[in-house]
Amino acid sequence: MDFKLNDIQQSVRDAAREFVAKEVAPRIDEIEHAEAFPEDIFRKMADTGLIGVPYPEELGGIGGGYLCTAIVLEEIARVSASAATLLTVCYLPLDAFHLYANDAQTQKYLVPGIRGDYRGSFAFTEPDTGSDPKQLKTVARKEGDKYYISGSKRFISNAAYNGPMVVFANEKETGLCTAFIVDKFCKGYSLSKPYEKVSLHGSNVYDVFFDEVEVGEEDVLGEHGQGFDILIGTTAYGKLAFSAVFTGTMWGSFELATRYTKEKMHRDKPISKFPTVQSRIAQIGANVLSAKMCLYKVAADADEFAGDIRRIQCGTALIKGYISDLAVETNVMCLNVLGAYGVCDEYQLERMVRDSLVAPNIEGAADIQRIIAGGYITRSDKPYFE
Ligand SMILES: Cc1cc2nc3c(=O)[nH]c(=O)nc-3n(C[C@H](O)[C@H](O)[C@H](O)COP(=O)(O)OP(=O)(O)OC[C@H]3O[C@@H](n4cnc5c(N)ncnc54)[C@H](O)[C@@H]3O)c2cc1C
Repeated sequence: MDFKLNDIQQSVRDAAREFVAKEVAPRIDEIEHAEAFPEDIFRKMADTGLIGVPYPEELGGIGGGYLCTAIVLEEIARVSASAATLLTVCYLPLDAFHLYANDAQTQKYLVPGIRGDYRGSFAFTEPDTGSDPKQLKTVARKEGDKYYISGSKRFISNAAYNGPMVVFANEKETGLCTAFIVDKFCKGYSLSKPYEKVSLHGSNVYDVFFDEVEVGEEDVLGEHGQGFDILIGTTAYGKLAFSAVFTGTMWGSFELATRYTKEKMHRDKPISKFPTVQSRIAQIGANVLSAKMCLYKVAADADEFAGDIRRIQCGTALIKGYISDLAVETNVMCLNVLGAYGVCDEYQLERMVRDSLVAPNIEGAADIQRIIAGGYITRSDKPYFE
């Protein structure tokens, strides 16, 4: 067992750390209050190569794999969960292309996406379903050699930017669930205003409406009827990415809270001298450590067992459910270390707490993650731990 980062992981981590310190940290307030994530920061994110971290070098990526990606997201979220979420929602359609696109689609969508030429979207959730793929209502009607997509999707990230959107729809004639690639802002595409949400303010979500949006056979991702597999396969990596984001928020909060205990004085002594404060910091540190270890282990498994998507999904669902709830609990513990200052925005902890509240409700509800993982473990003949 080796807990040391290899050369590529070390250099990518350093690049992410430098990027976030230089480009994101000084603009936290702007990101928090702007209507959209600043375009120039996104551009620098792409130019630093951060969008390409998981993908092969021959496609313009860094070839870092998923452990490296988790390390990058954690580093960024330690400072800004919004910036890390932006990167994560860009990865989702790119992961779908990386896993399922044919050669032409790879060149058309994946390669420019890695360069950051666009911000893609991945649209599964609907007004009637987030957790249950069988309740999908969006349909694709066939006429001649074209398909016409109608329906609506809910809470879709990046929907207001140009680029491709992976859309899940049931084919009307066969009932098969298929993934289609739609160019946003084509005829029949429209969207709502962004939702007002409690946090992750740099990463907007919208309702998206499809009114007979025309796509061709060349826009089918994977095979007809492969939609659920593509959903499960892609979101397996999405759950890993969001686990990294929320581990990063815990880490950042832990650092803020620890620093505060050394600065805040009571009777000429820092509160870090109080045993109760030390005990609380130790408890928070143990939570962060356990999230980090779970994250790195499952990310390393995702690299090692690439192709065994059920196994990867089990691991990422397992930690997504666990880390989501742990992040909320731990960030609130950090906030309480600061007392009344914790709820004021000057110390940033209230932002970290608000960001972590999204954790159990994004990329699958936390309860559902436990059902997925528990179902896999109990159905399998092999022991989960070898
Ligand atoms: C910031 C943000 C960005 C997002 N971006 C995207 C995006 O880009 N693309 C996209 O497709 N979606 C996106 N989503 C949607 C997100 O993935 C879903 O909200 C999430 O999967 C949960 O679905 P839901 O809200 O419909 O909850 P529901 O499925 O309605 O669940 C509500 C509650 O019921 C429980 N529940 C539901 N079904 C069961 C069951 N069978 N058994 C037991 N309990 C159950 C859940 O555990 C949960 O507590 C985003 C959401 C947010 C907050």
